[in-house]
Amino acid sequence: MDTDVLIVGAGPTGMTLANELLMAGVSTVLVDKLSQRSDLSKAGGVQSRTLEALDQRGLLEPLLATGDHPVTTGHFAGIPLPLHSNRHRLPWRSVPQVVIEGFFEQHLAAHGLHARRDHELVGLAQDDNGVTATFANGVTLRSRYLVAADGAHSAVRSLLRAGFPGQPGTLTITAADVRLSGVDPSTSHTWNEDGHWAALFPLGTDPQGRQLRRLVLGGPGRSLPREIPVTEDEIRHGLSTVFGTRVHLLELRYARRITNASRQVEQYRHGRVFLAGDAAHVHLPLGAQGMNTGMQDALNLGWKLGAAVHGWAPKSLLDTYHAERHPVGAAVLRNVRAQSLLMDWAGTRDPDVLAAREIFTAMAQLPDVQHHLADLMSGMAIRYPMPGTETHPLVGRPAPDLGLGPARVHELLRSGHGILLDPADTFARVAGPWSDRVDRVGQGADTEPMLIRPDGYVCWAGADDLEPALARWFGEPR
Ligand SMILES: Cc1cc2nc3c(=O)[nH]c(=O)nc-3n(C[C@H](O)[C@H](O)[C@H](O)COP(=O)(O)OP(=O)(O)OC[C@H]3O[C@@H](n4cnc5c(N)ncnc54)[C@H](O)[C@@H]3O)c2cc1C
Repeated sequence: MDTDVLIVGAGPTGMTLANELLMAGVSTVLVDKLSQRSDLSKAGGVQSRTLEALDQRGLLEPLLATGDHPVTTGHFAGIPLPLHSNRHRLPWRSVPQVVIEGFFEQHLAAHGLHARRDHELVGLAQDDNGVTATFANGVTLRSRYLVAADGAHSAVRSLLRAGFPGQPGTLTITAADVRLSGVDPSTSHTWNEDGHWAALFPLGTDPQGRQLRRLVLGGPGRSLPREIPVTEDEIRHGLSTVFGTRVHLLELRYARRITNASRQVEQYRHGRVFLAGDAAHVHLPLGAQGMNTGMQDALNLGWKLGAAVHGWAPKSLLDTYHAERHPVGAAVLRNVRAQSLLMDWAGTRDPDVLAAREIFTAMAQLPDVQHHLADLMSGMAIRYPMPGTETHPLVGRPAPDLGLGPARVHELLRSGHGILLDPADTFARVAGPWSDRVDRVGQGADTEPMLIRPDGYVCWAGADDLEPALARWFGEPR
């Protein structure tokens, strides 16, 4: 073997996974076909759950220290959502994807892990013991496991002939990074009577301190084939259609067309090969879901691959990756489809859609509806299917805001181990044989007993049957 795990694709999914494997002490090779990191801006919004995941690894503070990354509000279908409220310990932040990728690249390099660039994967074969990957530059690498984090047009997915059902793209909208004048800072989504719309999101400032924005334009006649380059004239015309003479384009930095293709791979696991991030699910970038979902795929998979490499993974552990993350991806695709309909993304002005939107907009003012949507959009509504979910409300969910306080729980998770909260020191004997994989926190944990996996999800709580739960998630005792 050249390495335990080969990660194909050094985007946010691949780099998050590389970090998880680094923590787990697993030898990892990260490759990318590009000769240098792309500086094109894509994602900008980071969900509460992703922020928690970064905090769990001690990376949140240093990431936020890289610049001005303000707490941000969010939206569902263009309807503002108070995601900056205190509902979640870590409210949404605006951090551009390029900043996240640059940060991870430096962090990984500081720990000796440098992405091997100019490595375009073109061939793949697996057997009982490992995977052989071949690259356009003639290199061959053999690994025990391979993870496809190679994005929406995944070569690994094609080589596996993996089923990728869903809807093909039928329309495009235009996304551009721009400098504008005349924008009211509170402007986010603006619709016209004729179906044209524009969305604006702050992207921070450039080195000269000038405000950059993501502009998204859609509506009748705006859908052009992806191959046709976006022109400055088109952006100016789009702006004047929606804002009249109020808003002016000062600079167009980068623009692209985005389709509404919506697909998810049927199986996240193919033997020793796993798919994660955009390689596993594609959809419209509405409401800041794609990068976050990919990074959270990586968080789910990392410790499980670590367990498999170190030889203590229970037999079914690697299969839980598909069982847990496929439903999450499917739910993201559903929420994006609902948003695209309610937004009247295509600018149809269909009266049925407008009526549904009006009612939904009114409902979205209700606190309970806002809470539901905020949890959904922040990754905080995720509940993995696992034994115990039917008997305890915390099982399957992210470690809660209870007892020790989540900040402390997240600090504890920086070890990369599981955590057993054992306030009455009842389980020292039972948990002892797993002490190399599970850190027991005794007195001071003012909460009920709880077992938390290395990815921060509660996998057991209560008083009974701790031993089988330890064996289910952490394998045979030492
Ligand atoms: C305009 C726009 C706005 C967005 N806004 C948001 C947002 O606010 N929040 C959010 O969460 N998401 C957002 N997204 C989505 C987000 O950008 C993607 O979901 C995210 O980039 C997926 O990360 P990834 O690592 O899975 O794939 P990618 O970022 O696509 O990375 C894949 C990597 O694999 C490499 N690669 C590809 N093929 C090969 C090969 N054969 N061999 C080797 N390497 C290969 C590529 O060079 C690339 O570096 C947005 C997307 C767009 C386009």
